[in-house]
Amino acid sequence: MDKFKRTTRKLYYDDAYLCKCPARITKIGSDYIELDATVAYPEGGGQESDHGFIVSIDGIGVRFIHARKVYTTKINIHDFPDIRVDGVIEHVVHEEDRELLGQFHAGMEVVVQIDVRRRACLSLSHTASHLIYMAISKVRPDAVARTLGCHIGTGTARFDFAVEDRVSPEQLAEIERLANALVRRNSTIRVYPHPEHADARYWECEGEVIPCGGTHIDSTALVGRLIVRRKSMGKGKERIACEFSDAVLKTEAYHS
Ligand SMILES: [Zn+2]
Repeated sequence: MDKFKRTTRKLYYDDAYLCKCPARITKIGSDYIELDATVAYPEGGGQESDHGFIVSIDGIGVRFIHARKVYTTKINIHDFPDIRVDGVIEHVVHEEDRELLGQFHAGMEVVVQIDVRRRACLSLSHTASHLIYMAISKVRPDAVARTLGCHIGTGTARFDFAVEDRVSPEQLAEIERLANALVRRNSTIRVYPHPEHADARYWECEGEVIPCGGTHIDSTALVGRLIVRRKSMGKGKERIACEFSDAVLKTEAYHS
């Protein structure tokens, strides 16, 4: 039962631009460090996790190449049918640095820091995914109603849908046009927690409200021109992906 009592404070929800924080080690695993607080966003909702460093006060540092949220609790909140909250965040240490894990121990004070460029890319990509999703929901609401999943990486974002009819070239062009119109309007993006639990979060832009706990940028223009593509995934399944070659990364907003 002990594992369920521990929690990691998710400082990335308190301040999306915090890139570094002090923390205390709560557990060392064979390949990971669990902390009582972190700025590292763990993989979730299709978004890849942050990468970064954990450094002891003695200056011993390890790289982490994955962050995962475990021992979460399922709760019932309106709008969030599958949400799992609380839990702890394990920072998976780079294979080459694992021999240093013996120099860390539970109770030790450390500093955890994220790779800011990677986070900025993921936040931008995640925001772009919402813009194409908003556009797809207007052009192909039937597909959005049967969303199979999404993946948000540093250079691209994509959704998979179950469909009766494929997305036509005309519909794809319309999706791209609507998404780019959102970019051009430089609309404000707001994120905020559900009143019942801070881990249940909303994303809002132009009156569209979507339950989403990922990381995002503050307005749409930085995404730059979106290029939208489709790929058939076999009968009855379509993938729509976007790329953003003109994007502006706002790394200067991050602070420790
Ligand atoms: Zn989101």
